[in-house]
Amino acid sequence: MKPASRLNALKPYLFATLAKRIEEQRAKGIDIIALASGDPDLATCPLVVNAAIEALRNPKNHTYPTNRGKAAFLNAAADFMAARFGVSLDPVYEIFPVLGGKEAVHHLGFALLGEGDYCLYTEPGYPIYESAIHLAGAAGHALPLLESNAFLPDLDNIPSEVLARARVLYLNYPNNPTGAVATREFFAKVVDFARRNDLIVIHDNAYSEITFDGYIAPSFLESPGAADVGVEIFSLSKGWNMTGWRIGFIAGNRDVISALKHLKPNIDAGPFGAIQDAAIAALTVGWRFPREMSRVYQERRDVIIPVLRNIGLHVNEPVASLFLWGRIMADISSADLANRIFEEAGVVISPGCSFGASGEGYVRVALTAPIERLTEAARRLQRLTL
Ligand SMILES: *Cc1c(COP(=O)(O)O)cnc(C)c1O
Repeated sequence: MKPASRLNALKPYLFATLAKRIEEQRAKGIDIIALASGDPDLATCPLVVNAAIEALRNPKNHTYPTNRGKAAFLNAAADFMAARFGVSLDPVYEIFPVLGGKEAVHHLGFALLGEGDYCLYTEPGYPIYESAIHLAGAAGHALPLLESNAFLPDLDNIPSEVLARARVLYLNYPNNPTGAVATREFFAKVVDFARRNDLIVIHDNAYSEITFDGYIAPSFLESPGAADVGVEIFSLSKGWNMTGWRIGFIAGNRDVISALKHLKPNIDAGPFGAIQDAAIAALTVGWRFPREMSRVYQERRDVIIPVLRNIGLHVNEPVASLFLWGRIMADISSADLANRIFEEAGVVISPGCSFGASGEGYVRVALTAPIERLTEAARRLQRLTL
């Protein structure tokens, strides 16, 4: 069987490949500490679980969910955006439920991009932007995120022939994998840039609720005029430990949301009703839960950073996200270093090159293991000399 040619350009998903290697080692009885994927290790917020159990018993939740979402879910999302970010949105026209941020990234691309279009995206980055651009039939133009520019893209030096045909810009702050955050000034600049170049901005806000040291992440929509030029993807996965539940929403520009309302009923149905009810609990009574999780991750961050510095990585303390982004000081590629750490210490981290060319020279360490496991990882890493 020969699959469609569009699959040829899709890279094997790093974490699928890694999961297989981890399984093989574990089957041999080797203890592996996985700090690669950004999948929270702790249980979902209990208030959310309880709401879901109750919602499961409601037969109204057993039929096809609509793509546009329950009124109560849309209202809870709009109220959350108002209370958390001071952003006022119309729940019917400016909020749209999605089966997770990953789905949103894909279907926004599908709704907005086509043959002959360029799409700007940042790299190193979440690999799904590139896949979405490719599957939509558009061409991608990568904007490197360099440490010298605080991991923000340089919007002033994009080739004019690319800019002329560019329709969409994917952004993501707090950023995966660099842990960098965007200033309000940067977002204001993005709004102006999008307006001047007739671009739609898709801001992926997957990590806004995981923040440290008193830092509070903004929404892109806080910038004046942002909803005229773009949307934000908000996911409940990371903040409420809900990666398995598949729920989030898109907020902002009504024309973009109207395009999705046109597209999506042709593809799937909306999120399961009981999960929308559970998400309402997260966004209302459970709104504090990500603050508790942030404290957990901050403590982990503080345990592992000195160890990484000891083995010769230059690591800045991130104020947000689930990740540490370490620059390799020794003369070794990120893939070779990740491999050595895997083989010699049984610790899985992600090579920076897997997030894009500008990720070479770095590794990403996820804070998704308990302190005891991080301490054990630290003990093993200390024996390693680069
Ligand atoms: C985890 C993540 C997402 C999406 O997660 P979902 O579980 O699909 O909501 C989106 N973007 C980035 C950058 C992520 O790291």
